[in-house]
Amino acid sequence: MDSYKFANIVINRPIEGPFTYSIPGSLKEDVKTGSVVEVSFGNKVVIGYVVGLSYKCDIEKIKPINNLVDKKLCLVPDILELTKWISNYYYSSWGEAISAAVPGVLKKSISGKRHRKEKQEDQIPEFEFIDGSDTHLTPNREQQEALDSIMGSMDARSHRVFLLHGVTGSGKTEVYLQSIAHALKLGLSSIILVPEISLTPQIVARFKSRFGDKIAVLHSKLLGSKRASEWHRINSGEAQIVIGARSAVFAPVKNLGLVVVDEEHETSYKQEDAPRYNARDAAIKRAEISKAIVILGSATPSLESFYAAKNGQFTLIELSERIDSRLLPAVDIVDMREEMTRAKKVPIFSQKLREWIEKDISERKQVILFLNRRGFSTFINCRKCGYVIKCKRCSVSLTYHFDKKKLVCHHCNFNMEPPEICPECNAAYLKYWGLGTEKVESELNRFFPQATIARMDTDSTHKRGSHDKVLSKFKDGHIDIIIGTQMIAKGLDFPKVTLVGVISADTALNLPDFRSAERTFNLLTQVAGRAGRSDLGGRVIIQSYTPQHYSIQAAKTHDYNTFYDKEISLRKELYLPPFCHMVSLTLRGRKEERVFKVSDNLKASLEKEIKSKNIDILGPAPAPISKMKGMYRWNIFLRSETIENIIPTLKKALDKNKSSGVIITVDVDPC
Ligand code: ADP
Ligand code: ZN
Repeated sequence: MDSYKFANIVINRPIEGPFTYSIPGSLKEDVKTGSVVEVSFGNKVVIGYVVGLSYKCDIEKIKPINNLVDKKLCLVPDILELTKWISNYYYSSWGEAISAAVPGVLKKSISGKRHRKEKQEDQIPEFEFIDGSDTHLTPNREQQEALDSIMGSMDARSHRVFLLHGVTGSGKTEVYLQSIAHALKLGLSSIILVPEISLTPQIVARFKSRFGDKIAVLHSKLLGSKRASEWHRINSGEAQIVIGARSAVFAPVKNLGLVVVDEEHETSYKQEDAPRYNARDAAIKRAEISKAIVILGSATPSLESFYAAKNGQFTLIELSERIDSRLLPAVDIVDMREEMTRAKKVPIFSQKLREWIEKDISERKQVILFLNRRGFSTFINCRKCGYVIKCKRCSVSLTYHFDKKKLVCHHCNFNMEPPEICPECNAAYLKYWGLGTEKVESELNRFFPQATIARMDTDSTHKRGSHDKVLSKFKDGHIDIIIGTQMIAKGLDFPKVTLVGVISADTALNLPDFRSAERTFNLLTQVAGRAGRSDLGGRVIIQSYTPQHYSIQAAKTHDYNTFYDKEISLRKELYLPPFCHMVSLTLRGRKEERVFKVSDNLKASLEKEIKSKNIDILGPAPAPISKMKGMYRWNIFLRSETIENIIPTLKKALDKNKSSGVIITVDVDPC
C-alpha cells in the first residue's frame, strides 16, 4: 500500500484548522496520526499535531512538514478524542487543547536546543514512609460495600461514575487505594487527580508507600527533565498509576481502568487559560472514552455532582462515619457584631478565640488560624476627602505589605511606596483599614509573646522549599501557631492541632459570585477538618459578622445535606447551575467606550442568532473587577440547559464581532 502523502495538522493558536501539509519522503515512515511535528506557519516555525492523514490534497501550493519532534512522542487515540471533545465543549481550538495535553518540556527538548543544567530537584517534602511497605487495611462494612460496587463495575469494564461522599477521616482514601489495587490486578492503569499536589504531600506519601515505584507523580514543581522522564515511564507502561494535578488527566497511560478525582469540588480543577477545561469533567469524559470507572471523592461535593448523584446519573456512595468513630470537632460561631459593640472597635480576635489560644498553647498544643487575605492592611483611604488608594491599572484598592513596606496590587503586582499625604487633597490623614495575614501575625506576636508563630501565604512561602520547612517545623512541634491563607486549609494532618480559628468567615461570602455560599461552606468545613485529629480532641472557632447565614450554620453542625437542600432550592429558583450551564464572555480593551460598544453589538448579534427561546442572555455589565492591568472589562453571560445549545449560536455571533482592540474570552462552565 502507498504511504500517506499529506497530514492534517492543528497548532497551539486560537485558530481552528486543521491545515494540510505534505509529508516529505524522509519522514514517510514516521509521521502518524498523533505525531508532534514542526511546521512553518505564517513566517514562524511552530509545533503542530497530526490529527489525520490522507493520500490526496486539493490545495496546490502546499508546505512540507519541517521536522518530526520525537519519534517516540505520539498521542494515543484516546487523548486525541478527549482533546477534540475539550475543544468543542470549552470553545478552544483543537491545537490549544492538545497542547495542554503534552508537557512543554517534551515539545522543547527536541527542537535541537539543549537544556541548561538544572538545579537540584525540588522535592515534595518526604513524610516518612517506605516505598511499597504499606498494606491493605481490612475494610469496614461501608467501605466493603463501596468496594464491591466499584470492583463489580470494573470487572464488567463498564463506564460508571461513583460519587464517594464522606467526611475527612471516613476512609475514602483507603477505598481509592484498594480500588487501584484491584485495577492493577486486572492489568488496568489508574489516574488519581488531586487539587494541588505540592500542598498535599501526605497523600502522595501514602500512595507511594502502598504502591512503590509503580507510581509516577506529575506536579508543577517538577523540573523539566524529571517531568519528561515521568511522562516516558507512563508512556512505556512502566508506571501504571499516575498521581497528579489537573493536567494528569492527559497522562498517556495504557488500559485505563480507573480515574479518581479527590476533592472533586475544588475550583483549582478549572484551568484559567485556554483551553479552560475542568479536569473533573474532562476525567469523566476520558473514562467514558476508555470505558473506565470514575470515583469522585469529597466531604463537600459540588452541587453539580451531588445533584447528578441524586438524579441517578452518578452512583452515590456514602461513608457516614469516621473510621475511629472520633467525633468531629465542636464548632463555635462568634458573632463579631457583639464583639465590636463590647470592644468599641473592630477586634481581630474575639474574647473566646483569645482565651482558647491562650489555653491551648499553654498546654503545648497547636493552633491553626485562617484568613484568606494576604498583606497587612487591605485598604488605605484619606480621612479628610475619602480618597481610596487604588492601583493605577486595576480597579482595586492596594494592600499594604509590612514586610516590604510597600503598597501592592494583588491583581497585577504593581507596587509603590506608601504616600505620607493624600495624593488627592494633600491631607496627612491616611488611614489603614482591613485585615490581612501579616497584621494577624503581628497582633499574635503582641498578644502571645511567649508563642512561636509562623505565617504561611504566598508571600511567606515565595522561596522554593520554604513551605515545606514551615510544615516540618510545625510537625516537630517547634511552632505553636500558624496563621495562613487557604494554603493551609487542605490536607494537612497534624495530631497536636486542637484549635482552629477562622478570623473572618465573611471574606468569601461577600464575593459577587453565585457560588459564594458553596465556597464558604466548603472552606469552613475543610478548615475545621484540620482540628481534632487525635485523642486530644478539637475545637473550631469561626468569627463572623453574618453568623446566621445558612452556609455558616451548616458548617457548625457539619451538615452537608441541610446545606445542599437549602442551596439547591435557591439555585433552582434562580435558574443557576446545576439547573443550567453557563458561558461567561469577558470583553476587554484599553478604550472603555470601545469595549462597551463591542459588548453591545455582541449582545445584539447573539439575540439575532438565537432561534429558539432556550438561551438566556445576561448583561453586558462591567466585570466585578471592571479594570485590570489597564484593560476595561465587561461581561456577558449565557445560560441554557446544555452547552451544545449555546455553542453554535455563540460561534456565529463571535464571528460577526471580530474587532481590533477588544479581546473576547469564552469561559464555559465558569468556576
Ligand atoms: P479520608 O480519605 O476519608 O480522609 P482515610 O482513608 O484517610 O479517610 O482514613 C482515615 C484514617 O483511617 C487513616 O489513618 C486510615 O489509615 C484509617 N483507615 C481507613 N480505613 C481503615 C480501615 N478499614 N481500618 C482501619 N483503619 C482505617
Ligand atoms: Zn493592579
